[in-house]
Amino acid sequence: MFKPHGQHLVAGEWVATAETFSNDPAHGEISNFSVGTVDLVNRACAAAEEAFWSYGYTSRAQRAAFLNAIADEIEARAEAITEIGSAETGLPAARLQGERGRTTGQLRLFADHILKGDYLDRRHDEAQPDRKPAPRPEIRLMQRPIGPVAVFGASNFPLAFSTAGGDTAAALAAGCPVVVKAHSAHPGTSEIVAEAIFAAIKSCGIHPGTFSLIQGGKRDVGHALVKNPFIKAVGFTGSLAGGRALFDLCAQRPEPIPFFGELGSVNPMFVLPGALKEKATELAAGWAGSLVMGAGQFCTNPGIAIVPRGSEGDAFVAATAEALAKTAPQTMLTSGIAQAYHDGKARFDGRNSVRSVLATESTGRECRPNLYEVQAEAFIEDHALSEEVFGPLGLVVRVASADEMPALAKNFEGQLTATMQMADEDTALARNLLPILERKAGRVLVNGFPTGVEVVDSMVHGGPYPASTNFGATSVGTMSIRRFLRPVSYQNIPAGVLPDDLA
Ligand code: NAP
Repeated sequence: MFKPHGQHLVAGEWVATAETFSNDPAHGEISNFSVGTVDLVNRACAAAEEAFWSYGYTSRAQRAAFLNAIADEIEARAEAITEIGSAETGLPAARLQGERGRTTGQLRLFADHILKGDYLDRRHDEAQPDRKPAPRPEIRLMQRPIGPVAVFGASNFPLAFSTAGGDTAAALAAGCPVVVKAHSAHPGTSEIVAEAIFAAIKSCGIHPGTFSLIQGGKRDVGHALVKNPFIKAVGFTGSLAGGRALFDLCAQRPEPIPFFGELGSVNPMFVLPGALKEKATELAAGWAGSLVMGAGQFCTNPGIAIVPRGSEGDAFVAATAEALAKTAPQTMLTSGIAQAYHDGKARFDGRNSVRSVLATESTGRECRPNLYEVQAEAFIEDHALSEEVFGPLGLVVRVASADEMPALAKNFEGQLTATMQMADEDTALARNLLPILERKAGRVLVNGFPTGVEVVDSMVHGGPYPASTNFGATSVGTMSIRRFLRPVSYQNIPAGVLPDDLA
């Protein structure tokens, strides 16, 4: 079993601090970790700025080789990563193995992506020396890396949205050094992945300031990181409350910087009447499976289903409850997340407008699914019902008829995803719903479940606030590199002076 040393990686050196905190593993041994300090954050950021002067000017081939080397080094530590990751998060080994493949696949995808060069979005307007009344100069455009980037990983993806996750991969691909604030729910997993990145730094001859990992333990670590003047953007995956606090700090800086926060979402699923008639039981089984996947701890968990009243809708609700009731207890990521789930359930239990369809008891870090039902009128009046409960909790909103669905859809805040379950006969209604759903969500799906997020060119994992803090961005897929780039125009610059990618 991997035994963490509990130190921070600051610009190529493993550093200990006096104070320590413990991880809270679901099973296995407890380990101690050095608490991060403001001084360490500032050292890491200064080193990242220094590293930018070389790393920001590496060739695309050098960066691609570096990204591939990180993937290799992660694979070389595969078993140890699964062991510590599973112990710290309670996620099953198979899930960690899958997530590791996704993480290394993501790094390799970015390597291929930058080699193609399209992301540079190079443009060229030729000079018009004879233009009247004034000549036009030659102008070229290209995307350049923005500088050091801060990354905050999420508790529920200890690999794919963490130390070497999508934000880090996209920033490194762009040419930006990265300072990671490790998530306190999986500090040992963060440490071993940081070791893999450090090994790749050494084998590829990359400036050591290009990557640092600071363990948390105290909130001032994250605050100091987003306020550090060398940091030019922040990639964050996590809660609405945490994301909003850090977003506000970024906006208050003397030099405000973009904060790319991917936050929570309830991912509404509209069950259209034709689909309900055709396959209520099948849909119920699918929804139940999506709700409990990973103990419901997915930002894309479809927590709310909108279903017409009537016997077919009743059958859907009953079949969902039946499928959920068969789920074995699952372990949640942290004691705090388990407590938040119990509190979220209590919020529903305390409301007269909400009917409990399936009520389960859970204790400690274990959870079981719960299902509730509410009428559309009461749902619209009570905003708290549309807030995310992180975990396997489903809410069915009953509409008097499917014609009410567009009005109800307008009521939702920004979402990562919105789903329509439909049959051919639902086409007219779906056409009415789509323009509303595409204003609400980063990804609209038909006849599927949103829990899986493909890492591809056309993926958008983002959406209007509060799903994310930048509706123009995605944190998954190759387009996520754009967050860490900025366009520069080069006017009348001689070929011998132009950057290599433009010359
Ligand atoms: P979290 O509690 O917000 O933690 C994320 C990171 O932010 C951690 O490093 C945490 O530090 C730090 N942090 C939180 N609040 C802070 C504050 N006020 N000041 C400074 N730093 C702060 O989120 P989580 O527990 O990892 O994830 C659960 C939530 O994330 C769920 O709501 C879920 O839906 C959402 N999520 C969203 C996505 C997405 O893509 N949109 C993906 C996964 C999860 P500590 O380590 O010290 O706590």
